[in-house]
Amino acid sequence: IDEVCFLSFYSFTQKYPPVKFLSEKDRKRILITGGAGFVGSHLTDKLMMDGHEVTVVDNFFTGRKRNVEHWIGHENFELINHDVVEPLYIEVDQIYHLASPASPPNYMYNPIKTLKTNTIGTLNMLGLAKRVGARLLLASTSEVYGDPEMHPQNEDYWGHVNPIGPRACYDEGKRVAETMCYAYMKQEGVEVRVARIFNTFGSRMHMNDGRVVSNFILQALQGEPLTVYGSGSQTRAFQYVSDLVNGLVSLMNSNISSPVNLVSFLPELIFTPLIVSSVSRSHIQFLPEAQDDPQRRRPDIRKAKMLLGWEPVVPLEEGLNKTIQYFSRELEHQANNQYI
Ligand code: NAD
Ligand code: UDP
Repeated sequence: IDEVCFLSFYSFTQKYPPVKFLSEKDRKRILITGGAGFVGSHLTDKLMMDGHEVTVVDNFFTGRKRNVEHWIGHENFELINHDVVEPLYIEVDQIYHLASPASPPNYMYNPIKTLKTNTIGTLNMLGLAKRVGARLLLASTSEVYGDPEMHPQNEDYWGHVNPIGPRACYDEGKRVAETMCYAYMKQEGVEVRVARIFNTFGSRMHMNDGRVVSNFILQALQGEPLTVYGSGSQTRAFQYVSDLVNGLVSLMNSNISSPVNLVSFLPELIFTPLIVSSVSRSHIQFLPEAQDDPQRRRPDIRKAKMLLGWEPVVPLEEGLNKTIQYFSRELEHQANNQYI
C-alpha cells in the first residue's frame, strides 16, 4: 500500500493512523531531531505505528508541520519547536539525530548555521544521551567520502573531502559529528550508531530542494527541460525512503557501533534513462558543472546486508512512480491553494 494513500485514508476514517499496542517494557521514549523533515517524518510514522512514544524536535528550517500533523494530539506524540544548537533537557531512551539540512542548496544557504547544527547540535544531543543514558543514532552521509578516489567505498575508506570548498560546511560538519560520536563512546561510554546515508528519495521530499530526483520530476511534470549539471556522467546510488527508515531502525536496535553504509540501488548515472524515458516530451538543458561535485559514488553495502540482515524491498521504478505521484498531488495542492 502506498504509505501516503494509507495515511490519507486513515485521516478520513479515524483520527490517527493505526498504532500497535506495546507493553510498557517494550515501549521506548524516542527523540527524533529533524523529525518534521523528509526522512524524519517517515521515521516518525514507523516508530509511532510500532507503538513507541515519539518526540519530534525541529526548528522548521527545511521541515514542515504538515509532515507530522497527522500525529498532533496523539498521546504518544509530541512536537517541539526547538533548535538543536541550544541545549535540550528531556528524558528519552533513544535519539535519532537527523537535524541538519541535507540538500546542497539548503546546506549552502547558510554554511555557518549548517556547521553549528552539525557540530554544536550534535554535541548537545550527545550530552543529552550521556546524561539520560540514551543510545544515539547519527544520520551521517555518503558525503563523508567526498569525491571518492577509491571504488567501491566501504566503511573503512577515509574519504577525499575539500575542507574549504562550498560543500565543506556539510561534509566536514558530518565528519566531525562522527568524530564526536566516537569520542563520547570511548570517553563517556555513550552507545552510538552511525548511518552513512546515500541519496534518498520519496514522498515528502521538498519539491524545490534542488536535488537531482526532485528537480527532474518537477521539471518533467511541468514540461520544462531537465537541468543536467556538467556532462551528466556523474553517478550516485539511490534508495527509497521506506527502505532507509527500516535500515535506520535495524541499525539502532543492532549491536553495531561502527559506521554502516545505507543504500539500495548501486550506481545510476544521474542522467538516468529511467527518469528521462518517463518524460519523453521534456528535453535536456546542460548547465555548468557544480564545484566539487563528486563524480563517482559506488558504495559497498555488504556490511548492512550481512550484519543487519537488512534487505531493501522497493524497486527503483516503483519508488520513482510513488514519488512522481506525490509531486503531482503537491502541484495540484499548490494550484488549488494559490488564490486562498
Ligand atoms: P530535511 O531537510 O528534509 O530534514 C532535516 C530536518 O532537520 C528539517 O526538518 C529541518 O527543519 C531540521 N533542522 C535543520 N537544522 C535544525 C536545527 N538546527 N535544529 C532543529 N532542527 C533542524 O532532510 P532529510 O533529507 O530528511 O535528511 C535528514 C537527515 O539525513 C540529515 O541529517 C541529512 O544530513 C541525512 N541524510 C539525508 C540524505 C538524503 O538523501 N535525504 C542523504 C544523506 C544523509
Ligand atoms: N544534478 C543535476 N541536475 C540537477 C540537480 C543535480 O545534474 O538539477 C546533479 C548534481 O550535479 C550531482 C547529482 O545530480 O552530480 C546529485 O545531486 P544532488 O544535489 O541530488 O545530490 P548530492 O550531490 O548531494 O549527492
